[in-house]
Amino acid sequence: TGSLYVVATPIGNLDDISQRAISTLQQVQWIAAEDTRHTGRLLQHLSITARTIALHDHNEKHRAASIIDKCLAGESVALVSDAGTPLISDPGYSLVRQCRAAGVRVIPIPGPCALITALCAAGLPTDKFHFIGFLLPKSLQRQAQLAAVPNGVGTIICYDTARRIKATLQDVTEVFGPERELVLAKELTKTFEHIEYGTAAQITAWLEHDPQRCQGEMVLMIAPTPKPDGDVSETVQKTLQLLLAELP
Ligand code: SAM
Repeated sequence: TGSLYVVATPIGNLDDISQRAISTLQQVQWIAAEDTRHTGRLLQHLSITARTIALHDHNEKHRAASIIDKCLAGESVALVSDAGTPLISDPGYSLVRQCRAAGVRVIPIPGPCALITALCAAGLPTDKFHFIGFLLPKSLQRQAQLAAVPNGVGTIICYDTARRIKATLQDVTEVFGPERELVLAKELTKTFEHIEYGTAAQITAWLEHDPQRCQGEMVLMIAPTPKPDGDVSETVQKTLQLLLAELP
């Protein structure tokens, strides 16, 4: 049988495609893409002529069956999204799950992913992090989404849109207070790549300085709750008190 290759593609800079991604895209019979026109440009750049299949959120369940049939018939299919790693805030979950159930081998071809690219340059803790995906469109929904993140999960990483970023920064202040350290990573790997560090107010001031700064693609990262200096946390204190009470 054929396999399903999950192929990461660039998030801006076309040079970020791997040798293995190129050879995989050259070798498969089919390429399942979110937007076949958008992917068409990448394929043209790489002189790849495989046939494309449109796979997006609303037709994924249905299309998965025909992709699996192709694999079972001995053809191979590569799944790509418009940018970055498929399935990460992008289609593909249902297809990969159905492949697993049908016994079709799924082969990952790793490469760019905006959240990891942003995190590795942010200077925020990387030992633990929590990816929220896209922040919700309405302010109250966003606040609820942020407030639901438990303490102790490390750096919080969110995808957001240029149109909403200023409102989002206000919501972050509502939920985490005005002092929390934030990092906004914009247009990663592209000409106008910029990483801005500061509080919500400082980043808002930076955005407002030039309307162009409110455009483009962005990842927002929120530092973990600062630990009180040299002090033990409330939970640890409570636990210690309980233990002390039990001592003879
Ligand atoms: N699958 C992609 C990945 O691996 O990161 C994410 C796709 S999601 C539909 C698109 C969002 O990812 C954007 O709204 C933005 O938050 C983030 N993103 C993608 N490319 C980016 C870039 N070059 N710079 C900053 N953020 C980016």
